[in-house]
Amino acid sequence: MEPLSGPLNLLCEFLRFPSVSTDPSRAGAVSACAQWLAGHLAEIGLLSEVHPTPGHPVVVARNLHKLGRPTVLIYGHYDVQPEDPVELWQSAPFEPEIRNGVLFARGSADNKGQIFAHIQGVAQALKNKGEIPVNLIFLVEGEEEIGSPHLEGFLKAHREALRCDIIAVSDTSMVAAGVPTLTYGLRGIAAMEIRVKGPSMDLHSGIYGGAVRNPAVVLAHLLASLHRSDGRVAVEGFYDAVLPLEDWEREAWAGIPFGERQIEANTGAPALGGEVEFTALERIWGRPTAEVNGIGGGFQGEGTKTIIPKEVFAKLTFRLVPDQAPEFVLAAVERHLRAVCPAGVTLEVLPGHSGETYVTDPHSPCGRAAQEALRRVFPGRQVALTREGGSIPIVNTFQRVLGVETLLLGLALPDCRAHAPNENFPVANFEAGILLNQTLLEELSRVNLF
Ligand SMILES: [Zn+2]
Repeated sequence: MEPLSGPLNLLCEFLRFPSVSTDPSRAGAVSACAQWLAGHLAEIGLLSEVHPTPGHPVVVARNLHKLGRPTVLIYGHYDVQPEDPVELWQSAPFEPEIRNGVLFARGSADNKGQIFAHIQGVAQALKNKGEIPVNLIFLVEGEEEIGSPHLEGFLKAHREALRCDIIAVSDTSMVAAGVPTLTYGLRGIAAMEIRVKGPSMDLHSGIYGGAVRNPAVVLAHLLASLHRSDGRVAVEGFYDAVLPLEDWEREAWAGIPFGERQIEANTGAPALGGEVEFTALERIWGRPTAEVNGIGGGFQGEGTKTIIPKEVFAKLTFRLVPDQAPEFVLAAVERHLRAVCPAGVTLEVLPGHSGETYVTDPHSPCGRAAQEALRRVFPGRQVALTREGGSIPIVNTFQRVLGVETLLLGLALPDCRAHAPNENFPVANFEAGILLNQTLLEELSRVNLF
């Protein structure tokens, strides 16, 4: 084992808590982890508190705030995903191990390693200079991996204490190793389940086939009707609110060293598909989709069973881009499906969860400060301005409750295996994160917010 430096040693201590938020048998470890973190934040010179919630506690820490300085809130989470299947880990998930300069442990990338880099950045600045150049708030929650059920209530209850000018989050990935990345947009989501019901029981397909509508055939027809052959979604009104990609975005994304070849390699898909007039990155980051996540019903066993199934279902999700509203999209899809659905079956449409889209301007004063901070940490590298295909609901919550934009400065690598066995975070990225925290706070302290 390589000898560990102070910050790395402390990170390993943080990683040893099995703070799995979804597992009730680990509630003790989750709360011990919160206590340890708050203790550490106090030790480095911040005022820290552990706030109980109806679920797992929230840790908040701050320096002494002074008038006239911008207030920066840095958000992270100390809870982690379950470690199973544990037999696929090369080293124990809660016994951090460094192999070839890479730290392996559950939470190393998502999110303990990334939030702890920020904490160590502040610790070093306080130790070396006696202060940091901004009013700082650390908000580290313990329920991110279960959907942050109590965060919104916590923000509302502590709105005054959490008042800030900008939020920074490191809980995403760099677009490729060594490429500094600022993420400025996220897709939203709208989910629904559809059920097609026909006869009151499964029927003999010889006795009734040809006379009675087959719900499985109808479902296949409905699902196929969602797309045109050029990859566009065929639902009327689906694209009405979609903001076109801006020229600078298409240009910036074209220069990112990640594209179709890497996506094919990462996914094993024999070829890519989608809207023909957009690149793969544009389709993932800047265009909405209609996806079928699962289809079920009818005979699923081995061999043949000659039936007309009485009922089948499909689960759909729509990834949305600004300014599409989830309710509008769900209503448009339902209208489309009802128009296409033939007589002889009944169609049930059950809306599921949804999440808003998010986009901010990476060329705003804070966005520019973040870009400059990234350039200083990765000299000579072009900063990749990216959006994410996925959703990060807390970012929308921050905007809705606190009215503040979020800078997403990811430090994990695309192959960090978050949520999977052998989760990892390169030591170099941890160290870059410590430096990034310091350059970011310096750059943000120069932004005129008033
Ligand atoms: Zn996660």
